[in-house]
Order: sequence, then structure tokens, then C-alpha cells
Amino acid sequence: MPETPYFVSYPEALEILESQPLPLPTEVVSLDEGFNRILSKDLESKVDDPRFDNSSMDGFAFRYEDSLQPQTHLAIIQTVQAGTNQISKPIEKGQAARIMTGAPIPDGADAILPIECCKVDEKNSTVLLLEQGKKHFIRKQGENLSKGQVALSKGAHLNPSSIGLCATMGYPEIPVFQQATIGILSTGDELQLPGTKLKESEIFESNSFGLASLVKWSGHKAKRYDSVVDSLAELRIKLDKAAEECDMILTSGGVSMGEWDLVRKIMEDEGDIKFWRVKIRPGSPPLFGYWKGKPLFGLPGNPASSHVVFRMLVIPYLRASTGGGGIQERRIRVMLAESVKSDENFLVLRRIKVDTSGDQLLAYSTGHQGSGNLNSLVLADALTLLEPGHSGEKGTWCNAILL
Ligand code: AMP
Ligand code: MG
Repeated sequence: MPETPYFVSYPEALEILESQPLPLPTEVVSLDEGFNRILSKDLESKVDDPRFDNSSMDGFAFRYEDSLQPQTHLAIIQTVQAGTNQISKPIEKGQAARIMTGAPIPDGADAILPIECCKVDEKNSTVLLLEQGKKHFIRKQGENLSKGQVALSKGAHLNPSSIGLCATMGYPEIPVFQQATIGILSTGDELQLPGTKLKESEIFESNSFGLASLVKWSGHKAKRYDSVVDSLAELRIKLDKAAEECDMILTSGGVSMGEWDLVRKIMEDEGDIKFWRVKIRPGSPPLFGYWKGKPLFGLPGNPASSHVVFRMLVIPYLRASTGGGGIQERRIRVMLAESVKSDENFLVLRRIKVDTSGDQLLAYSTGHQGSGNLNSLVLADALTLLEPGHSGEKGTWCNAILL
């Protein structure tokens, strides 16, 4: 039997994860259900956008040449509204049409003047143009998109503007990847739900809530279980239940070297581990493998670590499972405004606040970087990507990923 990869580098961990993505089927959902979903096909526009030349202003449409010597009087021959079915009369020399935003441009007209640059006589029969006409107030057919053009590609994570664009392109329904149902199981005798009266040695359980939010944010479905005590028998029951009910499992806690790190132990004895421990800080303990055929990430118990490991390992795995789609990594290049602790062998992911006020992006630590300190993550804009061997000294540059 091949040995389990142990203490892998970050690129090695990614390679293992990306080589065995979760097979996610596709489905069609209504546009109302599309927000935060991941497209499973390229979407071609069904129409030109704009569909026809139209006015971007409420005002008057006329022949540009007629406006070259303001102030000029033109005869108002019609009113054109958005959505009108009437065929408008062509605009001849010396004529103008009152026009509303979004209304089609009558033949012959090639310039617009907004209403505030015009004066209409009392009889509503002539308009005085106070300035030259503006050609750029005509939105040209197809200037945004032409029919057949792919505007949203497979893998696009649908945000509010892309949902609007789906509608603009004429899609009442959209093809998307099915959401993975991801079970979340915290482990630890000391954990109690927030709101419970705590005994001396107990703490509020936070990871399952944070991880469930990360799952939803990444476009999938979270199934949060109550935490399980440190008992192999209990853990086995809960893991079996999660494997039955979910497509994939996240555990938190119990993956380090300790006597009570039972997730690691049970996965070693009864699961199928693909790697254990990764050279990243914080968050070196995680494991990835299968429990009863379902992918399982054993995330660290320390809250900041479990969050960071989700960002660094689970997100790329989900991305691989949706054809490269979903949450994308957004990298920036920052200068360290103060020294941070780096490491010879580990990729170091410090929580940083980025000062964007100057010519260069300056990175400041968000304070105590303990792996249990969630507050330092809340304060952070980004995580450094301090490569192994980086000095971490003030004034040096490094990549960072935006949170
Ligand atoms: P473990 O990995 O189980 O050794 O846990 C590491 C640290 O994280 C310990 O201080 C735990 O009390 C804490 N911890 C583990 N799980 C959670 C959780 N779900 N919520 C909050 N803290 C946790
Ligand atoms: Mg524990």
C-alpha cells in the first residue's frame, strides 16, 4: 500500500485535491434562484444589447447639423416614449422629436440634447436648443453586447450584476452546477453551543457556524451538525450519518498529533487518508481523505486556522469540482509596512490590513496572530502569501490574497 503523503507542501496538497474533484452534476434553475450559483455552461446573449439605437437622456432628438449654431429653433413634430409601438416619423431638417430615456431614435436624427439644455415655447410647438447636439447620448444597437456573444462563461459565480446580465441576455432560467451538500461536524468535549451556560472548562463552539457561512458564501449548501464529543464510537456514528446525508464532510478539531485527536485516528484506522498535514501557517494539521466514499477535510480546531484552511484548501477543491468556477482567488502585491514572522519551510498566511491610501499597497498585521484569534481575521482584508524562506522583513514585497 502506498504511504500517505505526510506534511506536504501547499502546491502538493493542491495537486492531490485537484486530481480528485467532487463530481457535481448540473441542473437548470430559474433566474430567481440563480444568485450565488455557479454557471455550468457558457451563456450567449440572445439579443443585441442595446436592442436598438436609443436615447440615454430625456430631451430632444434632431439632426446634428441643425444644432451647430446654437441657439437654434426646431419644430417639435412628435413625442417618442420608451416602449412605444408607434412608428415614429423621420426627422427632417429643422425638426425635432421630444424623446424619453430608452426610446428608439427616429430615422434621420443623430443627436440628442437633454431637456435641461433646451427651452420649449408655450405652445409646445418649437424647441430652442441652447447648445450643440450630443451624439454620445445615443446608445447604439449592440454597443454592449452583440447577439451570440458569450458574456458569462462556464464557472462564473453569479453575483448581482451577472444575474441582471442573464436577464438582459434573455435567460429566464440558467444552467448551473448542483450545490454540494457539505456536512460540518465539530469535535471536542469542551464545546457548547452559544447561549448555553458554560462550565469552567467549556467554550462556545464557533467553527461550525463560521464554516457553514463559508460553505454558503462559496455557493454550496451547509448541513451543520451539533458538535461531537471526543469519543471514537460517537465520532463514527456522526461521520456515518454525515456521509449518508451529505456529498462531502468538513470536520473541525482533533486532527493534530495529540492523544485525543480522534478524527486523525479514526481516519487512519478506518478511513482513507490522501494527505495529512500541510506546510502552511496557520493551519498545518489538516487532512484530506474519504470516509465511506465521501471526501472529508479534517480541518484544525483553532478557529482562525479552520477558516484559513477552508480558504486555502477547500475553496480550490470546490473550484476544481465546478470546472474552475466559483470563488476565484484575487491576488494583490503588498509591501510589508512592518516585519512579520515568516518561516523557512512553510507558506505563511498572516492576517493583514491593507492601507490603500498611498501609491503602494501597505500591509499591516491585524495584531496577535494566534491561530485561535478570530478577531484578527475579522479585522483583516487579506492573507499574506509569504513563500517559504521569505524574510518577512519590513519593506519587502509579497503576494497576498484578498479575503
Ligand atoms: P483541537 O484541534 O481539537 O486540538 O482544537 C484546537 C483548539 O481549538 C482548542 O483550543 C479547541 O478548544 C479549539 N476548538 C476546537 N474546535 C472548536 C470549535 N468548533 N469552536 C471553537 N473552538 C474550537
Ligand atoms: Mg479537540
